[in-house]
Amino acid sequence: MTPVQPVRGTQSLLGEDADRLAAVVSAFDRVRRLYGFKRVEVPTIEHTAVFARTIGETTDVVSKEMYSFEDRGGESITLRPEFTAGICRAYLSEGWQQYAPLKVATHGSAFRYERPQKGRFREFRQLDAEIIGVGEPQADVELLAFADQLLKELGIDGAILQLNTLGDPETRSAWRDALHEHFRGHASALSEDSQARLERNPLRILDSKAHQDWPIVDSAPVIDDFLTAEAADFFGKVTEGIDAAGIQWGRAPRLVRGLDYYRHTAFEFVTDQLGAQGTVLAGGRYDGLIEALGGPHTPAVGWAAGVERLAMMIDAPARDNPEAVLLPLGERAEAAAQGILAALRRSGTAAEALYKGNLKKRLTRASASGAEYALLLGDDELADGKITVRNLVEGQQATASLECIGHVPLSLLWQVDTGSPSSPGAQHIKDLLSGR
Ligand code: ATP
Ligand code: MG
Repeated sequence: MTPVQPVRGTQSLLGEDADRLAAVVSAFDRVRRLYGFKRVEVPTIEHTAVFARTIGETTDVVSKEMYSFEDRGGESITLRPEFTAGICRAYLSEGWQQYAPLKVATHGSAFRYERPQKGRFREFRQLDAEIIGVGEPQADVELLAFADQLLKELGIDGAILQLNTLGDPETRSAWRDALHEHFRGHASALSEDSQARLERNPLRILDSKAHQDWPIVDSAPVIDDFLTAEAADFFGKVTEGIDAAGIQWGRAPRLVRGLDYYRHTAFEFVTDQLGAQGTVLAGGRYDGLIEALGGPHTPAVGWAAGVERLAMMIDAPARDNPEAVLLPLGERAEAAAQGILAALRRSGTAAEALYKGNLKKRLTRASASGAEYALLLGDDELADGKITVRNLVEGQQATASLECIGHVPLSLLWQVDTGSPSSPGAQHIKDLLSGR
C-alpha cells in the first residue's frame, strides 16, 4: 500500500521549521500587548456570505480561492481565507460593539485554494491586528507602528513599508472612472485577467502580475490628482504620524488592496528576499466593511501578515535544549530516575534521562544534546543519598546531596560539594536556603 499523502499546499513541520513559526507568533503576542491589543478568537469556518460580502465577489480570493462546501445541513460554509471578515462578523453578532473602540489581535490558519509555491500555501498562517470604531488617522499610525516594531523585533529589516491612500469614496470613484477610461483605451494589449477586471474592478489591474500589463499600469492616472481636500488631509496626518514615530516608508501610488471596501490608507511591507512572494504584511482602512455585513457605519483599520513568510526571514530560533541530562548507572538508580526527573522538571529545570549505553557514550550524547549539566547516579551513590553533578561545559564535577535536587539550582550545586553533610559546600547551600 502506498503511504497516505498530505493535501497539496499543506505543511507538516518538525523541529526548527516549527520553532520558526512559534517564534514569529510569540514575538507578535509580546508586541501586541505593548500596543494594548486584546486577544480574540474567531471560528475557522463561517457562512460563505461573510467572506463573499466583505472581501468582494470580484476579488481572486472570493472568485477562485475559497474553500467552500455545503455542510450536512445544506448550509454553504467557507474555511476562513483571512481574519478581518470573521472579526467584523463577531463584532456585530457577539455584541462586541459595546466595547468599541476595540483593538484586537489574533492568529491562526487561513485557507486559500492557490497554486502552491515558495511562500504560498493552501493552508497558511496569519497574524492579524484590527482597530474597530476609530475613524481618525492616529489608528492607522498605531497599527503601522505595531507592524514596524514587530518586524524589527523579529530582526527583519529588509521589509520596506509601501504606503498609499485610496482616498474617500468620492476620490475612489473619480479615480476608478479615470482608470477605467485609461485601461479601456489599451484593452486589447492587456492580459486576459486584466481584461476581465476592466469592467468589474479596474483598480485591480494595478495589482496585475502579468508583465504585459506593466507599461500600461505605469502610465495610468495616479490617485493624487483625484484626492478630495479631506482625503489629502487624512493622508497627510498619517504620514506625519509615522514620521513622528520614526517609521521608514516609501510612497507607492499604485498600491491598491484587492478588497473592495478599503478607504484611505493602504499599505504593504515588502521584501525582495522572498522572490515573487515579497509581501510579508499588508493592510489598510476598511470603513465600508461592517456596513457590508449589515452593521452600522463603522470605521476600521487593520493588517494581516503571513507567518510562514516572516518565519523564512528570521534567524533560526535557539534550540530548546535540556538543562540537565540524568544518567542512571545501575538498576536501582534507573528505578529512582523518574522521581529525580520529576523533581527537576517541577522546579522548572528542563531535564532528560539517558538510560542506554556505556558511560562514555552517554556523556557524549548528553553534551550533544546541548545540556549544561549531566547528573550521574550510581547505585552506591543512591544508597548514600548522593548524586554527581558534572558541568559539561567546564568539565568539572561535584558530589551533591540528592535532597538538593529540585531545591537548589544546578548552577550552584556543581560548584559546591554538598556530598557530606559537614562539607563547607553543604553549609553554604544551607545558608543560601535560609537566606543568610
Ligand atoms: P499575495 O499578493 O501574495 O497573494 P494577498 O494580497 O493575497 O497576497 P492578503 O490577503 O493581503 O494577501 O494577506 C495578507 C498576508 O498573508 C500576505 O501579505 C501574505 O504574507 C500572507 N499570505 C496570503 N496568501 C498566502 C498564501 N497562500 N500562503 C502564505 N501566505 C499568504
Ligand atoms: Mg493572494
